[in-house]
Amino acid sequence: MTAAYTVAVRALCEFTAKAGDLDLRFTPTPTAQEGIAGHALVASRRNDSYEKEVSLSGEFGPLRVRGRADGYDPQQNQLEEIKTFRGDLARMPDNHRQLHWAQLKIYGHLLCQSRGLDTVRLALVYFDVGSQKETLITEQADADSLRAFYELHCGRFLAWAEQEMAHRAQRDAGLQAMRFPHAGFRPGQRQLAEAMYKASTRACSLLAQAPTGIGKTVGSLFPLLKASAEHKLDKVFFLAAKTSGRRMALDAVETIRASAPLLPLRALELVARNTACEHPDKACHGESCPLARGFYDRLPAARSAALSSPSPVLDKAAVREIALAHQVCPYYLGTELARWADVVVGDYNYYFDISAMLYSLTLQNDWKVSVLADEAHNMVSRARKMYSAELEHAGLRMLRKTAPEALKKPLDRVHRQWNTLEKEQDGEYQVHTSLPEKFMAALQTAATAIGEYYAEHPAYVDEDLQRFYFDASGFMRLAESYGQHSLFDITVSGAGTRSNSVLCLRNIVPAPFLKPRFEAAHSTALFSATLSPWNYYCDTLGMPDNTAWVDVESPFIAEQLSVRLAGHISTRYQHRDRSLAPIAELMGEQYQRQPGNYLAFFSSFDYMEKAAALFAERHPGVPVWLQTRRMDEAGREQFLARFNAASSGIGFAVLGGSFGEGIDLPGARLIGAFIATLGLPQLNPVNEQIRQRMDAIFGSGYDYTYTYPGMQKIVQAAGRVIRTESDRGTVYLIDDRYARPEIQALLPSWWRIEQ
Ligand code: SF4
Repeated sequence: MTAAYTVAVRALCEFTAKAGDLDLRFTPTPTAQEGIAGHALVASRRNDSYEKEVSLSGEFGPLRVRGRADGYDPQQNQLEEIKTFRGDLARMPDNHRQLHWAQLKIYGHLLCQSRGLDTVRLALVYFDVGSQKETLITEQADADSLRAFYELHCGRFLAWAEQEMAHRAQRDAGLQAMRFPHAGFRPGQRQLAEAMYKASTRACSLLAQAPTGIGKTVGSLFPLLKASAEHKLDKVFFLAAKTSGRRMALDAVETIRASAPLLPLRALELVARNTACEHPDKACHGESCPLARGFYDRLPAARSAALSSPSPVLDKAAVREIALAHQVCPYYLGTELARWADVVVGDYNYYFDISAMLYSLTLQNDWKVSVLADEAHNMVSRARKMYSAELEHAGLRMLRKTAPEALKKPLDRVHRQWNTLEKEQDGEYQVHTSLPEKFMAALQTAATAIGEYYAEHPAYVDEDLQRFYFDASGFMRLAESYGQHSLFDITVSGAGTRSNSVLCLRNIVPAPFLKPRFEAAHSTALFSATLSPWNYYCDTLGMPDNTAWVDVESPFIAEQLSVRLAGHISTRYQHRDRSLAPIAELMGEQYQRQPGNYLAFFSSFDYMEKAAALFAERHPGVPVWLQTRRMDEAGREQFLARFNAASSGIGFAVLGGSFGEGIDLPGARLIGAFIATLGLPQLNPVNEQIRQRMDAIFGSGYDYTYTYPGMQKIVQAAGRVIRTESDRGTVYLIDDRYARPEIQALLPSWWRIEQ
């Protein structure tokens, strides 16, 4: 029989041989780089005939088991599995060791089978990255017992695999038969759906600019679910920047499921650990948290219950209910279910972050996945954050006073090197062309010392020390790949003993980090109402050369939106005071002409507050309400509640803040917007450095730093006015620069500007 279900050795063993507690207590584990270096060092200590990374595979009924053993020495007939660690090996939990043995025994069988061996020596090589010493635990094993072990584990997995194959066959048949969930496509929705499907057919990436109101979420999920059956996709990942985007995706799955009730589709919502945790005062290990104790013993039942759940989607509430019924942690149950779901809905970071779970599972399991990223205009800023790191001197200064004696010296060394950097600093902000070697060496030594201290004192609790360790490790990790895509800068504030400085590895072009993620997916579609110009997104995000681009026609027509240009006003910083009176006059006139609800956007709180004060003084009869600095959720809700079908007045807000995108005020709730800014990011030393770097890389420094991000915010903000095909409204673009053809070229093509 030809194998029909492929499973990696590691995944097989994690399924069949993992038992006992979930144990994620803080232990300083080797970095990926240390792990790779450790494996290489062990291999270099072996003889010339030593084979590294031995590919092995075998079959068991419909199962195909495959993987790569770390090393085989044919002279000694010894098969090795290398595990790097730090600290005291005796503290490694038993269930980790059992898992390592299970993997090695499976490899042992596959090796005996492929090379016709009767016996083999199995060696678990534990390599301490601190001392660089190896501890070998060996066992002579004969081929028959290894085969029995292999068959036992494959047998345990087979029932599950058969159920998975049956699910997959039913799922694909259901998807093939599935009809579009609505009576017809909305204008633009078909064009988007076709582009999505074609991108999957061509196995390429897609940038889709698709306006609000066309049903983007169903219009993207539906074709990719169809493609899942046709193109043999394992999974679709729907990623969103905000909770509201995730909710829309889950609603879209429910809509699709409602129209095909027999479709066995498993959809899962992934949420952040702090929002899913049931015991925020506890730590994630069996001695502290009851939901971690015996987690793997109860996981199989919880997993089966979740996957046979009648809920159309396993959202946060559904996963929680099942987890608590089986007394397992909801967050870790969710991450486990990601392996078995057909559609996974979560934040961008689950696939694009430096240690993204969905990305590593895709690589480990060789999944064929399609990735959808909604509101993708956020991707550049979100990805920059994912690949940036900061260290603050004030934190280290405090830590030096409280750290254990054994760590004082290495921390002092970092502190001294840091002082030297501050002394050499020329001004408040300085960009360095290379990383300071002595500082980095001191940081590395301190991080290693802290790691070893924790390994020797596992019960030691010090949140500040732990935070510094994480920050330093993150900083060093990014330093390993430091290059033209990032800046290294130091910002100093205060003076003398009160001075502080922040070292920042500031990513500005995430492309090199994201590129492998696009390559690992069968297809990736990034979509948003504002993705122009497409080359800005392609370049900065590192999308493949064959990325397709579609600009979906708007369902709205020019007659719906009156776009007026106030070219007699300049909102440049130096002209702001002078602009206040004409802006107040213009807003007053528009309100008199057509009373109703308006939003007015400004580039800063200061500007907005001055404009609102003058407007209120000159037009006391018009209700006004203002966004406030650090407005909380309740405040935001109150602000939005002022926009109702019967109300009228002007809400003053800051562009790029909470009200410039992601809010929906259809009909009379919003009939117009005044945009008194060009949206350009502030002119400051950091942005000027970004401009220079963008210029060096792409040759379009100003546009890539200022114009495009600014105009993207303008179009998003103006996009609040027309939400449905029956909406009518007015947008005022207030600044003389809106008259420039290169700026107007970045506005939606369906707008008609009245001069
Ligand atoms: S419930 Fe919270 S503390 Fe317990 S294992 Fe889950 S995430 Fe960790």
